[in-house]
Amino acid sequence: MNHRIAALCDFLNASHSLYHAQQYLLDLLLEDGYTRLYEHESWDLVPGGKYCLLRGGTALIAFRIPQNLPQGFLMSASHCDRPCFKVKENFELGGNYTRMAVERYGGQLLFTWLDRPLSLAGRVTVETENGIENRLLDIDRDLLLIPNVAIHMNRQVNDGYKWNPAVDTLPLIGGKEAAGKLQKLLETEAGGRILGHDLYLYVRQKASIWGMEEEYISSPALDDLECAWGCTQGFLNAGDSDSVPVLCVFDSEEVGSGSVQGAGSMLLPDTLRRICVSMDWDLDRMLAQSFMISADNAHAVHPNHPELADATNAPVMGEGIVLKHNANLSYCTDGVSGAIFRKVCEKAGVKVQTYYNRADIPGGSTLGRISLGKVSVLTADIGLAQLAMHSCYETAACADAIALEEAMSVYYGLTLKATENGFILG
Ligand SMILES: [Zn+2]
Repeated sequence: MNHRIAALCDFLNASHSLYHAQQYLLDLLLEDGYTRLYEHESWDLVPGGKYCLLRGGTALIAFRIPQNLPQGFLMSASHCDRPCFKVKENFELGGNYTRMAVERYGGQLLFTWLDRPLSLAGRVTVETENGIENRLLDIDRDLLLIPNVAIHMNRQVNDGYKWNPAVDTLPLIGGKEAAGKLQKLLETEAGGRILGHDLYLYVRQKASIWGMEEEYISSPALDDLECAWGCTQGFLNAGDSDSVPVLCVFDSEEVGSGSVQGAGSMLLPDTLRRICVSMDWDLDRMLAQSFMISADNAHAVHPNHPELADATNAPVMGEGIVLKHNANLSYCTDGVSGAIFRKVCEKAGVKVQTYYNRADIPGGSTLGRISLGKVSVLTADIGLAQLAMHSCYETAACADAIALEEAMSVYYGLTLKATENGFILG
């Protein structure tokens, strides 16, 4: 297997929750010599310095300070959250069996979660001698399953069935003797009394490389860990630039980005302001020469349903990075930001394809528009073409994942300079 795809699979297989994904990326940055900053401390930044910060365990920002006075910020934003199920308080449902009470997080394809081994991962807050402490938790074994109803008892299921998340998707954890045992298991794993939790169900199936030429990759959470990975690899591998490279991986995209770790929070504008204050740079001039790549996966044309795609802008898996357009600004790409991104891909030797929603099928929105409301810079919305978005097991192309790493390596090494009527890409 290609070493880059193997590394992507390692990341996907370790990312049993959004907390674990961010810890994995943070560890990569720290291994590469980045200094971890904390928002509650003062920042003493120096030219040539490399820094990162993690807010709330789920929002990551990393940046480098160039040796020379910079032109602007070159940013990317992706997200670490995925549609799934979150464990409720009072999570035990008794009776003949012991089941768990969970609620939906985001807009998943519900039925894909049935009849698969599942487990629990996330973060718990435990009591310690000195206060409270957050700890990652992962019950790393097959623990739960959401069983289907047999076709004999639901004969219309293949003709369309309305799945009810209050009934159909409650996971089974054991017989009645399992009652009370999960809380104990969690506290043993956490190493203390749990005062609060943010735990999610996850699919136990690992990432798979498949197809006649091993061209496809399937995994939980390709949307958007595939882009988070490609952006991080590009950020780490890029050469020196006279712009300031900034990597952002946000939380809460699947539910509107409204949390303190989301793209709608003040995290990015506050971080850029603090960088400029510490370095004595002019933030407004910097922003006028800045660029944002909003990287979130895109819909590939479906092999069995080509009619669902736009007639002339239907991306195919494996045919390059997708530039997303929408006249009503669900996506922020315009002629200028699209041109800059195309030049980046040209320099990287990477193919580009374009996406529009079919005019009578409303699509999703993405991070770009939300971060634009907080940090108003020229933005291109991009992504990698995938199938079965928001299934618990999604599919994309290996070649596109590599293309994103290559394009982002070029992007983060650029110096972007505004002219009176355009930009110079140095
Ligand atoms: Zn996404």
